[in-house]
Amino acid sequence: MNRIINLLRNSHHILVVAHNNPDGDAIGSLIALGLSLDVLNKKTTLYNESPIPAVYRFLPSANRIVQHINNTHFDVAVILDCSDLKRIGDAASMVSKIPVIVNIDHHVTNTRFGHFQFIDTSACATAEIIYRFIKKMGVPINKDIATSIYTGILTDTGSFRFSNTNRLAFEICQEMVEVGVDPYDIAKQVYGTYSLGRIKLLNLALDSIEITNNGKLSIMTLTQDMFDKTHTRHEDVEGFINYARNIEDVKITALIKESCNSKGDKGGVNTFHISLRSNGTVDVASIASTLGGGGHPNAAGFSTESTLSDIKSILFEIAEKV
Ligand code: AMP
Ligand code: MN
Ligand code: MN
Repeated sequence: MNRIINLLRNSHHILVVAHNNPDGDAIGSLIALGLSLDVLNKKTTLYNESPIPAVYRFLPSANRIVQHINNTHFDVAVILDCSDLKRIGDAASMVSKIPVIVNIDHHVTNTRFGHFQFIDTSACATAEIIYRFIKKMGVPINKDIATSIYTGILTDTGSFRFSNTNRLAFEICQEMVEVGVDPYDIAKQVYGTYSLGRIKLLNLALDSIEITNNGKLSIMTLTQDMFDKTHTRHEDVEGFINYARNIEDVKITALIKESCNSKGDKGGVNTFHISLRSNGTVDVASIASTLGGGGHPNAAGFSTESTLSDIKSILFEIAEKV
């Protein structure tokens, strides 16, 4: 940690990046680190390939996150919440030319890319690690930084319900509340704002649930047609997987999302993202790794160019071995 902090203190222009299709931890960590580097008078660019999901746009300085990088004269890139450099998207090739890459993450499948790594798989969120960095850097935590850290921990622990919820999750969040964070305010922003389209999409998603013959694997499918019909986007799916996950006796859940930019008649072949969840008895990170993705033991994912029926066949095969 000290080596990374010294490196940041001695750099001029730092690029801070989190994974594409960001969640609350990716955005929260990105902003919290960016605001802390401001206090150290560092020049930073905060980057994400994807638009910021509507529910996270309330975060302070969310509008500072850019979707394009013009300046290429960075001396350091800090990559957050990514098990693999590819997770940042198309910018990976440009970023890999930056002289120093720092990898800060909590995924068990982290490939240890970059020149410096700080990977702690026992951390509940990357935001927890960023909190520890901020403390070590001696940066005072203001309400904006606190809001970002709180949101990262709240969302990555599923509101303190998932297995990664640890003592520090509560301790840090308590401190963030003492700094001025209002838990009700953040909960309303993150969980309390549903568009009508999102409810209609949920209806379609619930109707799509299938369960394998042995009852151990459930599948929820969201096609591009469903997004089109309900005027929704991938970000609106956040949390849906839990309905399929909480069905009794189900050990693994898969949520299949068809990608929005891959329409066209290619014999049903399209880009799909598959999110996997486990009830704690099966390691989905290793399943996702064998399919080109990664994640945590109970929450992982992968993307593939395939057909819906081929993806389901793979999932049914997995179910048989459970
Ligand atoms: P999601 O599929 O977006 O619900 O993600 C669940 C977890 O798996 C998160 O911690 C992600 O960072 C991780 N994950 C999802 N897709 C990938 C991927 N293609 N490669 C590596 N990790 C992934
Ligand atoms: Mn994440
Ligand atoms: Mn995370």
